[in-house]
Amino acid sequence: MTDRFDILIVGAGHGGAQAAIALRQRKFNGSIGIIGEEPELPYERPPLSKDYLAGDKPFERLLVRPAAFWEERVVALLTGRRVVAVDPAVQAVTCEDGATIAYGTLVWATGGHARRLSCTGHDLAGVHSVRSRADVDRLLVELPDTRRVVVIGGGYIGLEAAAVLSKLGKQVTVLEAQDRVLARVAGEPLSRFYETEHRAHGVDVRLGTSVTCIEEAAGRATGVRLASGEVLPAEMVIIGIGIVPAVEPLMAAGARGGNGVAVDAHCRTSLPHIYAIGDCALHANPFADGLPIRLESVQNAHDMAATAVRAILGEPAPYHAVPWFWSNQYDLKLQTVGLSAGHDAVVTRGDPAARSFALIYLREGRVVALDCVNATRDYVQGRALVAVSAMVDPAALADIGTPLKSLVPIASH
Ligand code: FAD
Repeated sequence: MTDRFDILIVGAGHGGAQAAIALRQRKFNGSIGIIGEEPELPYERPPLSKDYLAGDKPFERLLVRPAAFWEERVVALLTGRRVVAVDPAVQAVTCEDGATIAYGTLVWATGGHARRLSCTGHDLAGVHSVRSRADVDRLLVELPDTRRVVVIGGGYIGLEAAAVLSKLGKQVTVLEAQDRVLARVAGEPLSRFYETEHRAHGVDVRLGTSVTCIEEAAGRATGVRLASGEVLPAEMVIIGIGIVPAVEPLMAAGARGGNGVAVDAHCRTSLPHIYAIGDCALHANPFADGLPIRLESVQNAHDMAATAVRAILGEPAPYHAVPWFWSNQYDLKLQTVGLSAGHDAVVTRGDPAARSFALIYLREGRVVALDCVNATRDYVQGRALVAVSAMVDPAALADIGTPLKSLVPIASH
């Protein structure tokens, strides 16, 4: 079968769906197709480790748009199909089933696949990732027969899963190889705060701990063996050690990149007529000092979709969105804005013991990021400080009597 779309999107996740939505919003009249390897209509991933895992939200409420929306906008959804090759010379992709689909412009929005452990036992029954609906559904089936869970990886997804499962009455252990949780994404005070919270909720948080293998009986995981020799018995093991960007077909076609596919400020790859957006796109981010990074957030997927669509439609505007992110654990709502990596000072605003505070990260005296815990007002007002990299007196930032909006430099109001 050969088909052709003026704009073909590979990946029916946050970025892919948003690109199609933005194209139609901007009155693009050509044909649009989205190929996605998952069987579902585009859905929101964040609830997978939050309300969906907890059983508080049915899958239907995760859909980005109902089925009728895609029909009305004439967006062809080719779900349950995986692209395995891209031929930029003839402008076509090949699916696993051998079908070829041609494109005028290709938008690559494939996110990433859950990184696997390399040790023995990583593929046993009872070992799970939390990346897709199918992953979580598999896990939920086993949950009633599960008493003890070991979560490997103390990043956001691992910690969110730990929070939900401990609230469901499971005995949860979190193993983190580094000396603090959230080491890759947050400053030390935030890590310590979350370690304390999880322990207070009965989660056994073990730092500086590496895994030797997953133990088994009859093909099922029975526990996790640590480098120390200790074995932690568990009926379920959850792996939360990040993702591997899904870019093999593009790289095989000659795209530049490495940890992701390299894109310019308009989300163009080095291959003609091919854009890349979202988790898989390696880009020079203005809020990371122009360093090449990949961001794994809904914000980034949405804003890159908008950037690519503008470029495709001949109305280019470079990517310059302020990064933001959130995480829900227990009754704690974390909202972050900016990127804290590379900060040289942290101001604490409010009292972590009161479970409502903000950490404000500075680099060379300028505000580069905020992590706000149950402090939405600071998050909302602090965004402007990050947007303009405001130079602010740390004492004023720490003073909860001084609204952050009053510290935004006048010229940028
Ligand atoms: P995705 O949404 O992952 O979509 C990519 C799609 O492409 C997938 O369906 C994939 O199966 C498909 N695909 C891959 N390869 C191929 C191929 N070769 N052919 C066809 N299809 C393919 N972000 C936040 O901002 N806040 C949060 O609280 C938050 N929580 C999260 C919780 C969980 C459990 C997870 C997994 C992610 C969370 N994220 C959160 C991150 C956020 O969901 C991602 O950053 C976002 O989904 C990225 O969008 P994307 O379009 O780049 O990729």
